[in-house]
Amino acid sequence: MLNGKVAVVTGGSRGIGAAVAEAMAKNGADVAVIYRGSKEKAETLCAKITEEYKVKANCYACDVAVTKECADTVAKIIEDFGGVDILVNNAGITKDNLLISMSEEDFDAVIDTNLKGAFNMIKACARNLIKKKAGKIINISSVSALIGTAGQANYAASKAGLIALTKTTARELASRGINCNAIAPGFITTDMTESLEDKYLSSIPLKRAGNPEEVASLAVFLASSNADYITGEVIRIDGGLAI
Ligand code: NAP
Repeated sequence: MLNGKVAVVTGGSRGIGAAVAEAMAKNGADVAVIYRGSKEKAETLCAKITEEYKVKANCYACDVAVTKECADTVAKIIEDFGGVDILVNNAGITKDNLLISMSEEDFDAVIDTNLKGAFNMIKACARNLIKKKAGKIINISSVSALIGTAGQANYAASKAGLIALTKTTARELASRGINCNAIAPGFITTDMTESLEDKYLSSIPLKRAGNPEEVASLAVFLASSNADYITGEVIRIDGGLAI
């Protein structure tokens, strides 16, 4: 389904990003995995991908919140792979606290990684995608953006901003053959949600958390030609949480 394509996945070292990178590779794409601190995990994943799926997989250390690091990393990826076809902006962090106790540093850190990071990566890849007159950009938002979550003013705002960035990017780049969509997961079992209490699960209509592979399948669909007529869309994958 994605043979000959090059997929860049930020935050590909763990959780949803690792599942997305693997699913892209399973469907034939070469994969560039971007991580910040988990070097060993990223390297292990790339080695597994190359061995199992016989595609090219390289990993790159890059803090997506830093504009120059994104520009330099994308330039290196283009040099190594010959271009970019799919960009998945998945890197994200939480620094939860009630609004009145939230520090300026924690607000800024979450916005910088979750929202500015995606802007940095889209900008760094845009020229190459425009030149190809094709491309798929997928931003991993959250249901927090749609319904708000107490204790997550920074996170929900960053993820809502990401939806606006998605729609604007979709409008600006549509004439160049580039689609941009957002995925809004609910509770997905990863390191980010390891402290999740059971009581939250009972509020999900399907009565369970999702798994990273389910999000990855949706990302592969959006990256494929089956989704050529979908752009500027936000797709929830949340077991019905935000109905
Ligand atoms: P996770 O397990 O905590 O993994 C986060 C990933 O992001 C790691 O690979 C981490 O890299 C990377 N990362 C963090 N800050 C970065 C930075 N500044 N630059 C580059 N990479 C950075 O998270 P997850 O649960 O898989 O979540 C993935 C995405 O889905 C996030 O955007 C999250 O907000 C979103 N989401 C998750 C859920 C959920 O329930 N899990 C729900 C809704 C949305 P290193 O480990 O290398 O530092």
